[in-house]
Amino acid sequence: MPRPSDLAAIIEQGDTEHWVSRAACGDLPLDRLDMFFVDAGRSLSKEAAALCRTCPVRTECLDHAETRDIAGGYFGGVSPSKRRADRRHDQAATD
Ligand code: SF4
Repeated sequence: MPRPSDLAAIIEQGDTEHWVSRAACGDLPLDRLDMFFVDAGRSLSKEAAALCRTCPVRTECLDHAETRDIAGGYFGGVSPSKRRADRRHDQAATD
């Protein structure tokens, strides 16, 4: 089986969630997906931010990270630190 070269190929080969097939970043080669994982203190590139801003599955992407407690990377255009802050805020509201 050939190695998948982008998200669309992974989706075809696996049982990845359906929303990924509509992702704005879905046609990017796998080696470009690291643009969504930036070092602490650095911002998302303009290109990546624009993809997330126009992505039709932003909500699903963010939910994916939040429900799985994914620590790194921008999901739904939201930084890891913002997700942590939101989680703390939500937790404080329920305490
Ligand atoms: S919100 Fe951004 S990272 Fe998430 S699927 Fe869309 S383009 Fe990709």
